[in-house]
Amino acid sequence: MALIVQKYGGSSVGDADKIKHVARRIIDCQAEGNQVCVVVSAMGDTTDELLDLANQVAVNPEGRELDMLLTAGERISMALLAMAINELGAKSLSFTGSQAGIMTDEVHGNARIAEVNPDRVAEALDAGNIAIVAGFQGFNRDSRDITTLGRGGSDTTAVALASALKADLCEIYSDVDGVYTADPRVVPTAKKLEAIDVESMLELAAAGAKILHIRAVEFARRHNVELRVRSTFSNDPGTIVLADENGVKQMEESIVSGIATDKTQAKITVIGIPDVPGKAAAVFTTVAEAGANIDMIVQNTPTGSDVTDRVSDITFTLPKGELKKVLDALAQNRDVLGYRELESDDQIGKLSVVGAGMRTHSGVSAILFRALAEASINVEMISTSEIRISVITGLDQVDDAARAVHKAFDLDGDSVATIYAGTGR
Ligand code: ASP
Ligand code: MG
Repeated sequence: MALIVQKYGGSSVGDADKIKHVARRIIDCQAEGNQVCVVVSAMGDTTDELLDLANQVAVNPEGRELDMLLTAGERISMALLAMAINELGAKSLSFTGSQAGIMTDEVHGNARIAEVNPDRVAEALDAGNIAIVAGFQGFNRDSRDITTLGRGGSDTTAVALASALKADLCEIYSDVDGVYTADPRVVPTAKKLEAIDVESMLELAAAGAKILHIRAVEFARRHNVELRVRSTFSNDPGTIVLADENGVKQMEESIVSGIATDKTQAKITVIGIPDVPGKAAAVFTTVAEAGANIDMIVQNTPTGSDVTDRVSDITFTLPKGELKKVLDALAQNRDVLGYRELESDDQIGKLSVVGAGMRTHSGVSAILFRALAEASINVEMISTSEIRISVITGLDQVDDAARAVHKAFDLDGDSVATIYAGTGR
C-alpha cells in the first residue's frame, strides 16, 4: 500500500461543487489501494478577502490576530471536505495544523516549520480514514499561539507532512496541468513541462512563479520528497520535480526551462554615495534593520573628478509593501550615510529566464537581450546566477517582455494552455 499526500489549492475547493469533485478524486485514490492524507487551502480567494476585512478594521493589525483570522479559511475548507467525503461513504477526519502536529517558530505571518509530529494523522490513516489537514498553519509551543507559514504556505505543509509520514509521493493539485514554461495567464502559448529539475524549480519559484511555494521546494529538496504538480480538473500526469538534472535532460532538451514574471517588487536608488569603504555596508545595514528583504543590487561605477569626492549610486529591489519603511529608515540615516538623494519606483516588473542548461550553453544572454530590444523593451537592471538571468523593466512592459522572450527561446507550444479555474489573484 502506498501513502500519498495530496494538496488542493484554493481554486480547487472554490465552491461546494468543486469540493464534491475533489472528494470523489480523493476517494478514487484511496480505492486504488492507497492511504491518502490531504492538505487543503482556503476556498477560492478567502484569504485575500479576510485580509481585506482586517485592513478595513485596522491600519496595522497585530500578527497574532491576523493569523487567528487567516487560519479560519483553511478550517472551513477542511471541515467541508471531510463532510463531503463522509457523505460519499468513505471515512474522513479533519485536523487543524496544530492537531496534525505542525510545530513552528513564533514568527506570525511567516513562520518556519520546526518539527512535525503527525501521530494523530498516522493513527487516522491506519484506521482507514482519509486524513484532511488544514494547510498554511502551525502552532508555536512557547507562545502557545497559532501561526501561519506565509502566503501560499499550504504547499509547504503538504511537503512537510509527506516527509514526516514518509509518504511515497506528494501531489500538489492546482488549476493548471503542471509547471509551465511561463505563467499561462501571461503567456497563453506556454507549454507544460513533463519534468523539471529541483534547482530550476527553486529559481522559478524565487523569481515569482506562483505554481509552487519556494519553501515547499526547498523542503522537498532537503528531505528528498518526490513532488508532482497536477491539475484537479484533468487526468494529466502533470509535472514531476526531479532531484537530478540529467533525468530531466532525457525528457526535455531545451536550455531554458521557463520564464517567470514578478510584479510585486519596487526599487530604490541611493544617489551620490561617497566612494569609500563601508558605505554599502552602512546602507544595507540600515535596510536590514528596517526588516526588508532585498533582491537585486546594482552599484554604478563611481564618477567624480578626483579620488576624494568620487560618488556612486546603489540601486536595489525589494517587495512593494516594504518600500515605505525602508525609505523612512534611509532618510533618517541620511547624515551618517552621506548620500545626496533618494529615488524610488514601484512601477517595475521583473522577468527571469531560468534553466539548468544555461550552465553549459553560451549565448543565452544574447538571445534574451535581442528579444527585448526587438520588442522595444527598456532594461533597467540585470542580475544573474548560474542558471538564471533576471531583468527589471517597466511594470506595463513586463508581460510583453515575457511573451517576446518566451518566443525567442522557442518555448511557444502549438496550442493555448488550459486554465481550469481560479482568478489568478
Ligand atoms: N490560503 C493561503 C493563501 O492563500 C495559503 C495557501 O493557499 O497555500 O496564501
Ligand atoms: Mg491560496
